[in-house]
Amino acid sequence: MLDAAFFRRWMAATAASVDREAERLTALDSAIGDADHGANMQRGFTAVTAALEKEAPTTPGAVLTLAGRQLISTVGGASGPLYGTLLRRAGKALGDAAEVGEEQFADALRAGVDGVMALGGAAPGDKTMIDALLPAVDALGDGFAAARAAAEAGAVATVPLLARKGRASYLGERSIGHQDPGATSSALLIAGLAEAGD
Ligand code: ADP
Ligand code: MG
Ligand code: MG
Repeated sequence: MLDAAFFRRWMAATAASVDREAERLTALDSAIGDADHGANMQRGFTAVTAALEKEAPTTPGAVLTLAGRQLISTVGGASGPLYGTLLRRAGKALGDAAEVGEEQFADALRAGVDGVMALGGAAPGDKTMIDALLPAVDALGDGFAAARAAAEAGAVATVPLLARKGRASYLGERSIGHQDPGATSSALLIAGLAEAGD
């Protein structure tokens, strides 16, 4: 079973890896976007860390909804509302249980990914965060390590794709040959699950 402490560890692990990888995320975004993805993610997860410390939510659902709200309110870029929706939807699906099963969590994260697709209109293969998140959710039944591997493979697999959503889509064919920054940060988010579970 997964309790609120697990979800706080997940957010903390993600905040730490976003800090470590911020320059790489920004470099990826400078190739096919506006070079702010590292800073956007850092701002968002710094706010998530501060809010979790201040409000100390006691259920898995409350941890994720609070985190999602922070991302929506602090990240200026497209990724803020999208990641915020992911975590808020997932948190809402978990309700107010003190502990949730791994299967229930997988269903909740799928609801979150559905929310991201509904909000942003991206489908798999459009070279967005969906290309890391959806394979991760599909693999979650096999455990966090499998989800992490699937997300990382999904992010790498965005390299040859043509971007159809977000700023990178303005580049058309010139978006081909670069890894999507949001898919890369999504792989960090999913890797955080494996770290929190250890
Ligand atoms: P911005 O493009 O506003 O500067 P960021 O740089 O923070 O925002 O985030 C860019 C990332 O957001 C992209 O790499 C992509 O993965 C993701 N993204 C952008 N638009 C969409 C969308 N409509 N659906 C899903 N993901 C998207
Ligand atoms: Mg950007
Ligand atoms: Mg921007």
